[in-house]
Amino acid sequence: MQKTAIKKFLLQNGLKRLNLQAVLFDMDGVLFDSMPIHAYSWTNALAALNIPFEEEEAYLHEGRTGSGTINLVFQRCYGRDALPEEIEQIYAEKTRLFEQHPEAPIMPGASEMLELVKKSGLKRVLVTGSGQRSLLDKLNLHFPGHFRPDNMVTAFDVKKGKPDPEPYLMGIRKAEAQADGCIVVENAPLGVESAKAAGIFTIAVNTGKLQDQHLIDAGADLVYASMSELQASWRSLLGVLRSTQLD
Ligand code: CA
Repeated sequence: MQKTAIKKFLLQNGLKRLNLQAVLFDMDGVLFDSMPIHAYSWTNALAALNIPFEEEEAYLHEGRTGSGTINLVFQRCYGRDALPEEIEQIYAEKTRLFEQHPEAPIMPGASEMLELVKKSGLKRVLVTGSGQRSLLDKLNLHFPGHFRPDNMVTAFDVKKGKPDPEPYLMGIRKAEAQADGCIVVENAPLGVESAKAAGIFTIAVNTGKLQDQHLIDAGADLVYASMSELQASWRSLLGVLRSTQLD
């Protein structure tokens, strides 16, 4: 199963083998169990303007920039993009609702996974569309020794955001590697699309409310049910990632 997925990826990307140097981690829904709070905040910030937005949509569109999400909703409701002041108002309300909520818990298995990756001699790079300073500030507190500004890509670094490949292409550069030297851990369909468009082997962890098929359709090479399951499988998976090659 793992070996088949890796061989398929190598074939599609014209590679003989992976040359692993770094693991690129998404943040929301991977390191922090923050998506329920994001979904709640989006739904209620838009409900204040009588704009319907199901929580499942927050999971489907997870990874877009704030303005990207707001424009998508405005196009659906009003057939136009939102004005800059509308974007500012809605995103401010979304952020206010998010930040008044109790802190998002660490995703079970995330700390263990980061430590295992470190022990494996691989770099860790954060690639998030988030501009929630409260979460970014807490990375060092909850995951000490893993993330510094020079191995983080956030909403402040990119113009386009996921599903564009730009965030993960920047992640590859911050890893000082090539696409075949990286793997990605993502939980959202648009994040998977972004990583795959950057040419990276992508592991999806389905920590949210969507069916696995959304992640598979987005191009995920492997799907795990949780970060706990991924970290429990990491040693054997890493062995297969390092040893699998095309003849
Ligand atoms: Ca995510």
